Amino acid sequence: MKLSVKPLKQKDAGRGLAAIDRAAMDEMDLENGDYIVLEGKNRAVARVWPGYPEDDGNGIVRIDGQLRQEAGVGIDDSVTVEKADVKPASSVTVALPQNLRVRGNVGPMIRNNLSGQAVTQGQTVPVSFGLGPLSSMSGQKIPLRIAETAPSGTVVITDSTEIQVSEKPAEQIREGEGAASPESPDVTYEDIGGLDDELEQVREMIELPMRHPELFQQLGIEPPKGVLLHGPPGTGKTLMAKAVANEIDAYFTTISGPEIMSKYYGESEEQLREVFEEAEENAPAIVFIDEIDSIAPKRGETQGDVERRVVAQLLSLMDGLEERGQVIVIGATNRVDAIDPALRRGGRFDREIEIGVPDKEGRKEILQVHTRGMPLSEAIDLDSYAENTHGFVGADLSSLTKESAMNALRRIRPELDLESEEIDAEVLEKLEISDDDMKDAMKG
Ligand code: ADP
Repeated sequence: MKLSVKPLKQKDAGRGLAAIDRAAMDEMDLENGDYIVLEGKNRAVARVWPGYPEDDGNGIVRIDGQLRQEAGVGIDDSVTVEKADVKPASSVTVALPQNLRVRGNVGPMIRNNLSGQAVTQGQTVPVSFGLGPLSSMSGQKIPLRIAETAPSGTVVITDSTEIQVSEKPAEQIREGEGAASPESPDVTYEDIGGLDDELEQVREMIELPMRHPELFQQLGIEPPKGVLLHGPPGTGKTLMAKAVANEIDAYFTTISGPEIMSKYYGESEEQLREVFEEAEENAPAIVFIDEIDSIAPKRGETQGDVERRVVAQLLSLMDGLEERGQVIVIGATNRVDAIDPALRRGGRFDREIEIGVPDKEGRKEILQVHTRGMPLSEAIDLDSYAENTHGFVGADLSSLTKESAMNALRRIRPELDLESEEIDAEVLEKLEISDDDMKDAMKG
């Protein structure tokens, strides 16, 4: 049956789940815990989970960014869903990334993490591996590659599956089709908390024209060339730009306003031109200009010769972009009033989205995003931390969770042999972030 794809709630991401509306579940005779094949451009297997009440009867399947990528579908696409017959795995061999060295048996920890999940050889699966800071990887989850399964095909990891660790690092195992690349821990919509309405606007202004230029042509309206995101630092502007690029598989390139202005005389314009050229060659593409106010301050105020030229160059580059909407420039600033008004006229940055400081609900979602891969003690009540962090933006909440993890790490440090290059699997397994670790981080 065909269902419409929607994102999962942030807290439910990363577990291979497909939340299907109950009416559709009944129609397909599916039960909680069954497996399905999602067929878009590619095929992916997911575990059925009862949908959110608000979806009931709307023909909706909610999957996270990883599954959307594996199945080759975007949000609002329709995907064919069929019940899948998946065998339990008797054994699965996983490959760890090269820079993660663990001593002892990590099998049980990996099995706990992946229990119930369907996997296929060549697939990359993100696994939370104790505390993020223990590894040198960014993000909280570590991408493992499925090197081999018995039986072959798509199998489910159960409590009796034997987990082996491959001698080869993940980088040397061939990647499966459509699998996410482990080198780029891609940002998806589920990694952004508290900005649902803003994301909806971003999707309408950027995703829609890029994915369906024909709609805009047919209607005779011009897709936007530039969108301005404005709001305080650390609220998720960069994150949003990356997520939208990732969701539509667009090329992503960044310009830092202050950096480009500090280049030698005359080179700033050249640099800008090169970035736009690179984007057009790799279209569909998103050019992200961070702190755009430093490139294009209001004329007359602080604008000198260099600024005037750079603004003129940026305007001409934007005017020169083809009108099919395959390159979109996203500008970010926390001083929207300080921007040269010429840039905000029609055909340039003529759409604006305000990204504000999160409210309590938003803060909770952001905390959920950042603790998703962390072994949190049951005693931690995220609601109360959301309540008590008034004024915190996403970046502050992310630091809070990282600092808590560091506190947990300090506690067990005497047991860790930091001289050794390897980490003891048993120590890893014991790691837990306690409520005191969080409280101390709040005080810090
Ligand atoms: P901005 O571009 O608005 O200055 P960023 O997008 O660079 O802010 O955010 C910095 C970091 O803070 C992000 O990498 C992320 O870890 C965290 N963060 C900020 N906003 C959010 C959010 N809304 N949801 C989840 N994490 C966030």
